[in-house]
Amino acid sequence: MSYKLFIPGPVEVSAKTYTAMTTPVFGHRSADFVDLYQSVQPGLQTLFETKDPVYISTSSAWGVMEGAIRNLVGKKVLNCCSGAFSDKWYDVSLRCGKEAKALQYEWGTPIDPEDIRRELSTGGFDAITVIHNETSTGTMNPLAQIMAVLREFPDVMSIVDCVSSFSAVSIPKDDLGIDVLLCGSQKALALPPGMALFSVSERAHVRAEELMDRGYYFDFLEFRKNHEKGMTPSTPVIPLIFALKSKLEDIFAEGVEARYERHARLNAMVHEWVDKRGFELLPPREFASKSLSCVKNIKDIDIVDLNKRLKARFNCIIDGGYGKLKGKTFRISNMGDETDATITALLDQLDMILAEVGTA
Ligand SMILES: *Cc1c(COP(=O)(O)O)cnc(C)c1O
Repeated sequence: MSYKLFIPGPVEVSAKTYTAMTTPVFGHRSADFVDLYQSVQPGLQTLFETKDPVYISTSSAWGVMEGAIRNLVGKKVLNCCSGAFSDKWYDVSLRCGKEAKALQYEWGTPIDPEDIRRELSTGGFDAITVIHNETSTGTMNPLAQIMAVLREFPDVMSIVDCVSSFSAVSIPKDDLGIDVLLCGSQKALALPPGMALFSVSERAHVRAEELMDRGYYFDFLEFRKNHEKGMTPSTPVIPLIFALKSKLEDIFAEGVEARYERHARLNAMVHEWVDKRGFELLPPREFASKSLSCVKNIKDIDIVDLNKRLKARFNCIIDGGYGKLKGKTFRISNMGDETDATITALLDQLDMILAEVGTA
């Protein structure tokens, strides 16, 4: 029942990573745990490009996404919405009892920093949510330009989801002035699901101190207090931290820049295939994600059938479109441990199946 995943999360997990997870656990208040926790911190800070602490949460990314709302939104949050994940964040803000406004775009349209400037100039907002890489549409938003605008509004906390771009492209958290940068284990880090990583700026901690309804499990101040002792607030998913340690070794052995280059190169290979086969990407080319490709199904392929054939013959699957784009798009992930060989093989296999069903 095991097959290779080319879906944009979870992605394939290496045997080395799985093996790391079988390390016997120890108490989460033991010196061994403190050693483990502190051993991953420098690597995480390098990847987050930050001097701020990087916290480890036993939850999927949504736990921290909700937590960021509860910790940082006092007055009103602007949710930039342009796909399934970013749209959902508006809903989550409301469910947390916060005042929120959706800055809504068509799915696949990049966020325009000028719209953010216009909205924030009206005042009243004290936080914003932005998804760097909207996975449902394969769109990468212009984060540097967005953050340049946000630096004009020092009262507005920036909460940035880089769940599906973290470790695939450089995201200079401190240079850009991002207050909360968060990601999940099962996307480009190629770890199994169940863990989120996030880094919080000093001023975001100060904001959290002013807010009373932070809850407990995702209270950023609890994370900071425990972090200072090399621990997490509650019993964490220790096997995934072993996996993370193993993965950080892999990442630094390859080299961070080489890793980013590899993601860019494999992504370009998929784009080239898209062009050659007469398909189109959903987002405008210059805003296309570097970690996955969301392709318009302009040839009206039966994607469910295509995936069945892929799985039966080649033991792998791609994604058949997310939410309202199901069937109208398909998505191919190039994140994690993919190589020139694995992406070439996948594209060849897709060609064979498309020839079979008469659409190549
Ligand atoms: C996958 C994903 C999420 C949700 O992550 P979970 O781990 O399922 O909570 C959020 N945002 C983006 C951009 C994603 O790709």
